[in-house]
Amino acid sequence: MYLKSLTLRGFKSFASSTTLHLEPGITAVVGPNGSGKSNVVDAIAWVMGEQGAKSLRGGKMEDVIFAGTTGRAPLGRAEVVLTIDNTDGALPIDYAEVTISRIMFRNGGSEYSINGNTCRLLDVQELLSDSGIGREMHVIVGQGQLDTILHATPEDRRGFIEEAAGVLKHRKRKEKALRKLDATEGNLNRLNDLLTEIR
Ligand code: ATP
Repeated sequence: MYLKSLTLRGFKSFASSTTLHLEPGITAVVGPNGSGKSNVVDAIAWVMGEQGAKSLRGGKMEDVIFAGTTGRAPLGRAEVVLTIDNTDGALPIDYAEVTISRIMFRNGGSEYSINGNTCRLLDVQELLSDSGIGREMHVIVGQGQLDTILHATPEDRRGFIEEAAGVLKHRKRKEKALRKLDATEGNLNRLNDLLTEIR
């Protein structure tokens, strides 16, 4: 599995549609300060479902949308499309190539799709969670992040390991199942109350 291409449209400094074609092995992005190298990395994190504006070096989520320059008006939406080569079947989906896309409008939330089919954020997270490119983005090591891991509390460090081991997905499913059980128990209680009233 490797990242094959990345297209940015209206994402941060990339107002016009820009596609980067990546090959297996090492790719280096070079350029002057402020030319948008880190924005490319932010786009990878964003399309994979990143929810924290701070992780994307912004104040609020809309900050990922092209804000305009002296010569160009701001845009109303940001879009990133990531194509992943899956010939080795590392992603649990029956396609040799997987395309994930995320669109965000200035006045609304995000829309996700996998291979052209609209899906939920959860679907993107589940698709990626067993591949090592999970929700917490351990594949993207930002400046200062190594320090954070080295100085993490034992609980936080356990979180990192669980994420890498793919436990997080099952933990989330367990939480969802427990919430459903809770709701069902509430319904049963109400039913019992009604039965007592009727008798
Ligand atoms: P350095 O080498 O200094 O780390 P870099 O090449 O990584 O720089 P980035 O941090 O990726 O550069 O890009 C910063 C540029 O992106 C700034 O010029 C900033 O104005 C621009 N930028 C960030 N968000 C937006 C946005 N929403 N709209 C327009 N431009 C943006």
